Amino acid sequence: MHDLNTQVENKVQNITNQLAITSEYAITTSNKQLISQLLEHALSYGNINNITVFNHKKEVISEIGPAAHIPTPPLSALAQTQRSGTFLVSTQAIYHNPLPIDSSLSSPLDSYNPKIQRNIIGWIKVETNISQLDIAKYQLFFLLLFLFSLFNVLNAFITSRVAGSLTHPIEKVSLSLRKLTKSQYAAAKSIKLPSQYSEIQKDLLELAERLENHKKELTAGIEQSTEDMRRNMDSMEEKSAQLYIANKEAMESNRLKSQFLANISHEVRTPLNAILGYTKILQKNIKDNQNKLYVDTIEQSTNSLLAIIGDILDFSKIEAGKLSLDHSLINIRELVDDVYQILSANLLTNDKQIDLVTDFSPDVPQTMIGDSIRIRQVFTNLISNALKFTNKGSIKTKVILSSKSKDQLTLSFQVIDTGIGIPEDKINQLFKPFSQVDTSTTRKFGGTGLGLVITKKLVEQMGGVINISSVPKIGSTFHFTLKLKPSNKPQPKQEKLEKFIVFLEPSNTYRHYLSNYFSEIGVESIACSGVEQIISKLNQHHNKVDAILLNIIPNKQSTNDAKELASYAIKQFNIPCILMIQPPGQINHYPKLKTMCSDVLLKPISHKHLFNALKNIQPPNAIAAADLTSDSPTIEKQPLPVTHLTGLKILAVDDTQVNLQLLTHWLTPHGLNVFLANSGRKAISMAKEQQFDLILMDIQMPEMDGLETTQHLRALDAYKETPIVALTAHALGSEQDNILASGMNAYLTKPVDELILLNTIEKWCLRKESAQEHINTQVTQAFDINKALSIVSQKSDIAKEMFEMLADSLADEKKLLRHHFELQDTEKLIHVVHRIHGASKYTGTIELTRHAGFLETHLKELGMEDVEGVLNDFLDSIDMLLAIRHLIPWPQE
Ligand code: ADP
Repeated sequence: MHDLNTQVENKVQNITNQLAITSEYAITTSNKQLISQLLEHALSYGNINNITVFNHKKEVISEIGPAAHIPTPPLSALAQTQRSGTFLVSTQAIYHNPLPIDSSLSSPLDSYNPKIQRNIIGWIKVETNISQLDIAKYQLFFLLLFLFSLFNVLNAFITSRVAGSLTHPIEKVSLSLRKLTKSQYAAAKSIKLPSQYSEIQKDLLELAERLENHKKELTAGIEQSTEDMRRNMDSMEEKSAQLYIANKEAMESNRLKSQFLANISHEVRTPLNAILGYTKILQKNIKDNQNKLYVDTIEQSTNSLLAIIGDILDFSKIEAGKLSLDHSLINIRELVDDVYQILSANLLTNDKQIDLVTDFSPDVPQTMIGDSIRIRQVFTNLISNALKFTNKGSIKTKVILSSKSKDQLTLSFQVIDTGIGIPEDKINQLFKPFSQVDTSTTRKFGGTGLGLVITKKLVEQMGGVINISSVPKIGSTFHFTLKLKPSNKPQPKQEKLEKFIVFLEPSNTYRHYLSNYFSEIGVESIACSGVEQIISKLNQHHNKVDAILLNIIPNKQSTNDAKELASYAIKQFNIPCILMIQPPGQINHYPKLKTMCSDVLLKPISHKHLFNALKNIQPPNAIAAADLTSDSPTIEKQPLPVTHLTGLKILAVDDTQVNLQLLTHWLTPHGLNVFLANSGRKAISMAKEQQFDLILMDIQMPEMDGLETTQHLRALDAYKETPIVALTAHALGSEQDNILASGMNAYLTKPVDELILLNTIEKWCLRKESAQEHINTQVTQAFDINKALSIVSQKSDIAKEMFEMLADSLADEKKLLRHHFELQDTEKLIHVVHRIHGASKYTGTIELTRHAGFLETHLKELGMEDVEGVLNDFLDSIDMLLAIRHLIPWPQE
């Protein structure tokens, strides 16, 4: 619009300008006609309404067209255009250029120099009606508006058409998909899409088809599965019925089994009881020591058998849920004392000195109601295990009162030992029937593996729980609780004795234990740990001492010390003596010592017995004391029949004392000197000290079995040829081979017959060929001549040469092996072993190959860890080979 205005203004200005120029001449010449012509001509342009010409005095000299009566703008030298209402008024000065003398010399530009050259001779004013222009402007504006609206409408229409053509098929696709999701396949398929979407239409159809088929298959599958399930349920019902029947049958057969076990146990117990009964009668009547020992052994063995049967019976009773509890008055302290005494008599040996102590908290009542037999059984199992698995230290039974109400006592017990302990991963197995931590054939301790199962069941039946904590090599603690009933009877008060004693007890633990007990019963005591100390205390306090209490450990020194101390106390101060002896007691060998003492107590002491002994101290037996010096051990000796075996030295090796005694009793009457070793190690150390003529060797022994012991013995120069006869409980074919391969000469199966034993000894000790046979056994064990020959196509000289080469190198190799082992140099050790292993394979040295193989594998897989034993075996096999190298019967070429 603005451009349009400017354009009109310019146009009017131009017309005005043109008029001013063209009218110059007419004015200067005052040619009015010309001016009129010019104005008329100009009026025909555009919308010019009025044109007025002024002279230099600004007087109108000519005018054309109707004046609009609008004020004339001031006339000046400048051209002007201004708007007034619907009119545009333009003014322009008319200049006269006086013509130059030589117009060609003047510059055209000079004519524009108003100051110098030009004179204003008049003005021209042009009025233009621009109302038409405004109309045109509005028309243009409305036209544009119309066009713009038209464009928008068209645009909206086209857009909606295009959008419609795009979204319509999508809606159809979506509708079709909705139908598909609703499984209306036919409806989905009937929806048609425009032709340009034919691909999508095809895909939709295919999808619908597939879904329809899939649904059909699914339905068919479900129908099939439902049918199968129905059938399965039928068969399950049938199976569960069968199971129920089978379960009932199993329960019934389990019940029958338990019944059977119970019956069998009972049936076996009956004759055993008879055996025990008659044994007891025999024990009373038999005077002969040897026969007495036999009868004692029968009693012991019968008791062990009874214990095993008892276990089995209990187990079967518990399994059958038939164990019932009794309710009687029990004194827990006495019960534990009893169990200690009985078990210590059976299980403590010379080598095993263990302090058996109790620790009752003062609030534990003296008596209560419970099943004393079952509680005793629980203690017996736990304490006998503790004794079995403890070699030194102590076993403590701790009892505390956990809770107490009007009609219930809960006692908490602990059996704490300082034994071998139980590895953590084995603890859970312990309460499973027939499980033992050490299941090896050379296990050190017997047992059925039922003890703890029964114990657990018994504890649970008595309302308690049992658990174990154990640290290997430190010890185990079995902790259990029991619910018992309080006794109605008033608890007996602890009587105070008011005595003064001095006592000798080397064990620290037991010394404290006794001191505590003495102060509990009002006895003042001085504890001494050695002979000198007790003598000095006796000298110091003899005026008030009521008795001395001496502990004798089962050895000669201790017995002699006790003898001297007792005699000293009696003779010097007339103070009586009480003895405490430990099984296996030797006190019976010193009858006078026994008669001289006020009392002899068994250790571990029974509190009741100790109390009574202190209460009833007897005055000393001075006569016996005077005669004590002549009290030497009374061991009866049997006259020995002299036979042709007389004087032979036999070493009997067996871990069971009874078996050793039996051998002694069989052989000594025939004049043989029998020496006893209760372990493989003991046998080896005895063999090193003296030469035996024959060794009787048990096979199954703890720690080192008979086979291993024999191998060690054979490695000793003095025992390369000594006959070794195995005594085995089960000589199966494979075992026989092992026995002979280990270097033994013969074997006898237990129970051994006395006559056969004597014949065997005679055969091996008195017949010449035995030595050769023995040599042959040793050679064949270490060396396979057939193998050596077959490798070199029976060329015995080559075989011999190869063998000798290896044998010659072995002495140096041995040194190397030891050297590398000392330096823990695995690499070099493997290197040497590998070399010997390789060479030994071609020389028939079977035993050497075997051990080299073991050692090489061990070194490669485990390195130096625990290798010493394997290395020693290998070195032994080298020694053995060197020992027989000159005995090999090489065939002559
Ligand atoms: P067993 O009659 O064989 O002794 P138990 O059930 O009494 O059977 O014991 C099972 C095993 O538990 C034993 O063989 C032993 O290995 C282990 N055991 C039980 N008590 C102890 C203990 N105090 N210390 C170490 N091991 C024990």
